[in-house]
Amino acid sequence: MPSILDVQTIEKNREELFSRTNWFDSTSQLQNRVKGEDLDKYFLLTDSEKKGIAETIRLNVSATPYYLKLSDPFDPQCPIRRMIVPDSSESVLSVEESSDPLHEERLSPVRGLTHMYPNRVLLFSNHSCSVYCRHCMRGRKVSSPKERMEKEDLESAFDYIRTHSEIEDVVISGGDPLNLSNARIDWILGELSSIPHVKICRLGTRNPVTLPFRITKELCSIIESHNNDSLSVFCNTQFNHPKECTPEAKEAILRLLKSGVSVGNQSVLLKGINDSGEIMLELHKKLLEMRVRAYYLYDPELIPGSRGFRTPLQKGVEIVSYMRGKIAGMGIPQFVNDLPGGGGKITLSPNWYLGYFPDTRQHAFRSAVTGKVHFSFEPSGSEYESFYHILNEQEWEKLIADSTSR
Ligand SMILES: *Cc1c(COP(=O)(O)O)cnc(C)c1O
Ligand code: SF4
Repeated sequence: MPSILDVQTIEKNREELFSRTNWFDSTSQLQNRVKGEDLDKYFLLTDSEKKGIAETIRLNVSATPYYLKLSDPFDPQCPIRRMIVPDSSESVLSVEESSDPLHEERLSPVRGLTHMYPNRVLLFSNHSCSVYCRHCMRGRKVSSPKERMEKEDLESAFDYIRTHSEIEDVVISGGDPLNLSNARIDWILGELSSIPHVKICRLGTRNPVTLPFRITKELCSIIESHNNDSLSVFCNTQFNHPKECTPEAKEAILRLLKSGVSVGNQSVLLKGINDSGEIMLELHKKLLEMRVRAYYLYDPELIPGSRGFRTPLQKGVEIVSYMRGKIAGMGIPQFVNDLPGGGGKITLSPNWYLGYFPDTRQHAFRSAVTGKVHFSFEPSGSEYESFYHILNEQEWEKLIADSTSR
């Protein structure tokens, strides 16, 4: 039990932080970010958290007052808190972990650029973010000043893109591209739209979640000025929990939408934070109310100190299976695993398909709504029968029984 004195001090410190921050001003929010050594002023820390803060092998700690305000100072299980405050599992390197499991560096022809898929590239635009998420998969670079991308680095990346006409789609990530200055963002988008074969630019940003006030009218009008016939701008953000879906976040999203930017969400599946069908359903319902469509649900990467966040692979399949039928399809993310070793992303889907019975030319499916077995027919004369999982007579009888029983 915390002493009343501790509780009062922490509440007072929070009040003080919130009132000295010029709340709607993103610069003030950034200036007043809370760093690792100050976490004990704003949270009643557990021993595990104290160890995590002292011994983390992951990225630096930093949180905007806005995002910190969404967290619970006294409950160590609070999902927002767990994304801000390290715990002791962050100090352990497991044998299966490595700092670059996806081979982003090995697949990098020039500094900051990863070219794995033929027609799309990943551009690391900067090392900083508004909040450093404990689960960040790019912790080897993010938050480290020596990973700063200079203008010349970006110029070399653009030269590479310019001379590779197969590149149609540039994913700008980081770090967080919206933590660059308006002038730099203007320049980057201008460079991309001057390359005729680049048709799509995606901004990977968590600012709508962690610092919605960064999505200003000025920023949106810069983006809008480059969102035209030669370039289409998309934004993929990362809401992980319904508590993050605030009115401020919604306003930020609406500003982006008004500037013609299509907004999608890529959440990360995180143990104890959002690894349940109910929470994911609630999150995606709220996202649809904010007009954000679901894109991906990521299985966490095997990065150093990530054991505290990892879930069994089946969890993600279970979650998207739970969601099917309970929300519009545009609210259901694809569960993806980014394959270690630079294999790219693959999707894992629930298996609604049960198999094929050639005698009657029937397919059997499990319904997400009724939970029962339903049938449909393969066209006669189909040349694809050998592609299906063939059911034997016994299996078929069982499925028929399951379709009528209950
Ligand atoms: C994720 C990723 C992309 C984009 O993949 P999409 O499936 O198109 O969203 C591109 N390049 C790299 C290296 C990536 O990791
Ligand atoms: S905002 Fe993105 S890049 Fe930055 S720390 Fe969070 S997950 Fe990593």
